Amino acid sequence: MIDIDGWRSHAACLHEVTDLWFDEDPAIETAALAYCAVCPVRQQCGEVASAYKEEVGIWAGLRAYVPEEREILHAYPPAHVPNQLPETRQ
Ligand code: SF4
Repeated sequence: MIDIDGWRSHAACLHEVTDLWFDEDPAIETAALAYCAVCPVRQQCGEVASAYKEEVGIWAGLRAYVPEEREILHAYPPAHVPNQLPETRQ
């Protein structure tokens, strides 16, 4: 995973074996998703995966190898998360 601006140092998966996020075995997948569920940099993770159009692995709690989840991942950030601050009046 590329660390663009230091956010990776806060990742819940930082000290774990990366293979966990690239194994589609259901038991291992569940363990990886549990890390993502409490990860404080999920937003940044999703944005990077979206930028690179990842098609393998788990990113931001989404399985890129599952078509429905990959579609959400590639559109990150999700529609309910503001992408930028509203313009201010001058
Ligand atoms: S969301 Fe998941 S894959 Fe992404 S940095 Fe956090 S723990 Fe790692």
